[in-house]
Formats: sequence, C-alpha cells, structure tokens
Amino acid sequence: MNDLDVRNVIVIGGGPAGYTAALYSARALLRPLVIEGITWGGQLMNTSEVENFPGYSEGVMGPQMMSDLRAQAERFGTEFVTDDAVRVDLSQRPFVVETGEETHRAKVLIVATGAKARELGLSSEVSLQGKGVSYCAVCDAAFFRGQNVVVVGGGDSAMEDAIFLTRFAEKVTIVHRRDEFRAEPIMLERARANEKIELVTSAVVDEVLGAEAGKVTGVRLRSTATGETSEIAAGGVFVAIGHDPNTALFVDVLEHDEAGFLITKAHSTATNVYGIFAAGDVQDPVFKQAITAAGTGCMAALESERLLAAEEHECAAAAIPAPDSK
Ligand code: NAP
Repeated sequence: MNDLDVRNVIVIGGGPAGYTAALYSARALLRPLVIEGITWGGQLMNTSEVENFPGYSEGVMGPQMMSDLRAQAERFGTEFVTDDAVRVDLSQRPFVVETGEETHRAKVLIVATGAKARELGLSSEVSLQGKGVSYCAVCDAAFFRGQNVVVVGGGDSAMEDAIFLTRFAEKVTIVHRRDEFRAEPIMLERARANEKIELVTSAVVDEVLGAEAGKVTGVRLRSTATGETSEIAAGGVFVAIGHDPNTALFVDVLEHDEAGFLITKAHSTATNVYGIFAAGDVQDPVFKQAITAAGTGCMAALESERLLAAEEHECAAAAIPAPDSK
C-alpha cells in the first residue's frame, strides 16, 4: 500500500447527509469516495413527493431528488462505490472500509449510514407505501387535508405526529398495542385534549386496506385483548413506532446512545474517535429530516477539511526548521 491508496475522505452512506458531505468535500478538492450502498439514495427512495426540501418550489419525487443530490456531488469529482460496507477497522488511521469486493482506506471517515423507520411488518403496508402509508408526518401530513388518518404507536413520536396531523386531517385515530403509553404524560395529555384525536388501545393493525383501490382506504384492527377485528376508514396510515439507526458496523468503537444512534460532540459532527465524523439520521434521533441530514453532512465535510488542513500544516511546519534554530 502506498500513500496514493489512502483517500483523504471516505463517506459511508448515500443519503442526503452522505451526498452533501461528498459535495462539500469534492469542492474542497479532497476527492471523496462515497460508499453509497447497493440501494443508494436512503429513505427518500421510498418516498413519493417531497415538498419540504428547499429549492424545489413545485415539490420533487424522492428518488429524483436523491439522483439530483448525487449528480451534484459527482459534478465536482466525487467517486462512488455502489456497494455496502460490510466491515470496518477503526482501530487506527488510515481507517479501513471493506465492501464485498474491495478494501478502501482513508484518513477521515464520515459515517452517514442513516436510520430506518420501523415497519409493522405487513405485506399490505409495504405495497401501499407512498400510496397512503407514510413514516413521516411532517413530510406528508399536508397530503391528507380533510381526511381521516390513523397513527400507529404509543410513544412521543406517535403523539407528536397525531397532534401535527390534526392541522390538516379531519380526524386522527391513534392505534396502540397496549393500554399503557410509552409517551411522556404531557404529550399524552395534549393528544387526549385534542378533540380531533381518538385513542384506540390494546389493538394492532392486522392489515392496511386499499389493495384494490391502489391507495389506502382504511385499516383492519385486531384487539390484543379479545382477538376481535374491526375496520376504520382512513386515507392515510402514519407508522410512528420508532427508528433504528444503521450502526451495527460502528457500535463497538463509536459512542452511541441506548438505541444505537451515534453520539457527536456539541456543535460538531465529531465522534469519540479522532478523524471520524457522523452526519445525518445516524446521529439524529430528534429531527430526522432530509434538510437537517444535509446540514450535518455539510458540517462533517467542513470539519474533515479543517482537520486535514491542520494536519498538513503541522507536517509542513515540522519539515521547516524553526526561524531561531541554527
Ligand atoms: P419509542 O419511544 O420507541 O416508541 C415506539 C412506540 O411504538 C411504542 O409505544 C411501542 O409500543 C410501539 N411499537 C413498537 N413496535 C411496534 C409494532 N411492531 N407494532 C405496534 N407498535 C409498536 O419511539 P418514538 O416514539 O419514535 O420516540 C423515540 C425517542 O424520541 C424517544 O426517546 C422519545 O421520547 C423521543 N421523542 C421525543 C419527542 C418530543 O419530546 N417532542 C418527540 C418524538 C420523539 P410499546 O410501548 O408497547 O413498546
């Protein structure tokens, strides 16, 4: 291996955070490599219309937006490996990232592997994704103006989503599998106090209805107490049962919270390992938006560039005799 084999920056992840990190790194002439995953593009590849990413005044389809972000990074010299990272060695620099076929090394690593919204695990749910089944109320609520919608979950996200949805929907039914809630009491109280919200407890969604119509028409519920089934008519189903960060490769070395989200320093994307930055949903259990992911991708690239420039400066300084040395 020689120095030329060692990249300045490898970005792992091909979502809004990864491509933005690549764009900024490429424009800083760092020639980044993005290991973007076999199914590049991230969560927005499963989204239909995106109306809340600045710059698209008429909205844009999720896959088109990801293709645009990728092309913008490519324009400035980003290289891509369309494969999954399967193994990493973070024990020393250069860091090593292996895909099924290749081994790559870099002085700096930007982890932008994202998170996955948990799914209910129903085939009817999968086939109606983007046709009324959504995992992001902030993104999609406005498409359900005047309609009845269902929110699944009993945590803070479910309460927050339901309350947000009442701005647009006629009625919001929260379906929770137990009769006790995981949500903070204050969030639960707010939901209970909202006259547009109905809470249905001890029930699970057995099937999302609408296969024939090609869009969601309702849900079939099953009582966890009696096994009885019932149906609710609804135009949308918002699944709010949590997110899982894609951090399996990193959790042995990088600090993370209980759910596996990577922990970064305040006002920074730096992780606990010098030279490794984390951007996007992989380190964000709170906002989970494409634009916030892109923002932290930008931060990670700027911090990478500063770190590499400082090291280059130190090396240059070490090679030059100090002015007062004889
Ligand atoms: P969460 O707290 O893990 O809650 C997930 C909910 O979904 C639980 O009620 C769980 O039921 C239910 N669930 C999980 N798998 C299910 C399945 N297969 N079928 C049906 N229901 C299922 O996740 P979250 O609500 O996304 O919150 C994540 C973190 O972000 C939390 O720490 C939360 O406090 C925080 N958060 C805060 C705010 C805020 O303060 N404004 C807003 C959003 C999120 P069980 O209870 O039965 O396990």
